[in-house]
Amino acid sequence: MSGMGEIVHPLFRSIGRGLAHHCPHCGKGALYGRYLKIEPVCGACGHALAAYPADDGPAYLTILLMGHLIIAPALFFPIVWQSPPQISLPIILTVLVVIALTALPRLKGGWVGLMYALQVTRDDAALHTADAAD
Ligand SMILES: [Zn+2]
Repeated sequence: MSGMGEIVHPLFRSIGRGLAHHCPHCGKGALYGRYLKIEPVCGACGHALAAYPADDGPAYLTILLMGHLIIAPALFFPIVWQSPPQISLPIILTVLVVIALTALPRLKGGWVGLMYALQVTRDDAALHTADAAD
């Protein structure tokens, strides 16, 4: 049994390390050099972290999760839509931005961990894009 989709690296361990802003390969090195900037290679084990495609997925995931887990549930609280919008809207938007900026690096890290576990690299992504263009 081998081929695409075979899980070589433990899925949840890889995602967990990414969520914690750590290299999915060794769990020790830092994933980010600065906010949302993934290190080219892990400082601890030298694993090529930049090899994993993490451009659109994490942002999409953040919006999806926020919509389902935060915005939709928030509408169940009458205070959210009964309070005057000039008061509630700036508060709500500020909270959402803070949550998004907090969640994005974690989700992006988890995403890289997922790509690591599934062994999907930028080369694969380019290949798939080329296939779709045919
Ligand atoms: Zn590492």
